[in-house]
Amino acid sequence: MPSVGIDGIAIAIEEASAMSPLPSFTGLSRRTLLATLAMLAVLPQALLPAGAQTTAAGDPLPSWNDGAAKQTIINFVAAVTRDGSPDFVPPARRVAVFDNDGTLWCEHPMYVQMAFALDRVKALAPMHPEWKDKQPFKAALDSDMKGLAESGEKGLVELVLAAHAGMTSEEFSRIVTDWTATARHPRFKRLYTELVYQPMLEVLTFLRANGFKTFIVSGGGVEFMRPWTERVYGVPPEQVVGSSIKTKFEMRDGRPTLFRLPEVNFVDDGAGKPVGINEYIGIRPVAAFGNSDGDLQMLQWTTMSGGLRLGVIVHHTDAEREYAYDRETSFGRLDKALNAAALNKWTVADMKKDWKVIFPFER
Ligand SMILES: [Mg+2]
Repeated sequence: MPSVGIDGIAIAIEEASAMSPLPSFTGLSRRTLLATLAMLAVLPQALLPAGAQTTAAGDPLPSWNDGAAKQTIINFVAAVTRDGSPDFVPPARRVAVFDNDGTLWCEHPMYVQMAFALDRVKALAPMHPEWKDKQPFKAALDSDMKGLAESGEKGLVELVLAAHAGMTSEEFSRIVTDWTATARHPRFKRLYTELVYQPMLEVLTFLRANGFKTFIVSGGGVEFMRPWTERVYGVPPEQVVGSSIKTKFEMRDGRPTLFRLPEVNFVDDGAGKPVGINEYIGIRPVAAFGNSDGDLQMLQWTTMSGGLRLGVIVHHTDAEREYAYDRETSFGRLDKALNAAALNKWTVADMKKDWKVIFPFER
């Protein structure tokens, strides 16, 4: 059974109940209850009783404070799903795209994938004695962030390719799975996959309950995300679009493999996002969620097509509960897209003001 981002919610419930135990359900285990909830979320709308496309409590976005951002999302979904509405969008065209870093999960103090690359370079170092004296590897091994930054984009690409190539796609998937099961965020001391945004998990579930297909369109590596996006967000691997390196088919010991080469294939960022959407999804989205200038063109492509469309920018404004940054940061800079939001009437979700909780474990 597809798990529908409900895993994220399930984890949240598990966490919450660990703190204040739920009353036990006679003859109905909590797991069964959660599985049933998960199934409800994937049932086509037509099979649900009227009004059930939200939640039993009636609030589809319980972790959002009442305000313009929440209302805009709810109004949009109502308008495009109501039969006879001038804004009606048939289910087959209900495509919503989500950036990942900074939109669905935490991207500070550095992109998660960069933390992965640094750990990977450290793990591989014994096989590469030459790295001790060679930049950018020396900086990576010494955790010298300044030296790393000085190596520039070229250095970073070299580092990332060294960490991501030279194995089969199956081996890489296993490496990513092992890393995400153990590596912890330096500030929150949590697994990175726990540092996803509860209000956005609710948006994903709400859209899917209303016949939307949800896609991730991220600058991150596509094969870095696919091993865990279904479990965490309910987004299956085939609905993840991302950056990629080249792969090559090879028979190895009589087994077919795809071998990962140290060569960039596609950069799914900025103007690359609409290209990636067209190439891999093939339907122009009607809703887009992002948080940085890397999402500008995706938001333009989605919203500037006539008809009622939804563009949402997640604005990091909460230094206490998460991080506060926009125009001046190396990770997730939001400058041009913030200016464009005002011009294009995109919704800016202010994390501090609009979100009751940031992470599932806070509930
Ligand atoms: Mg982002």
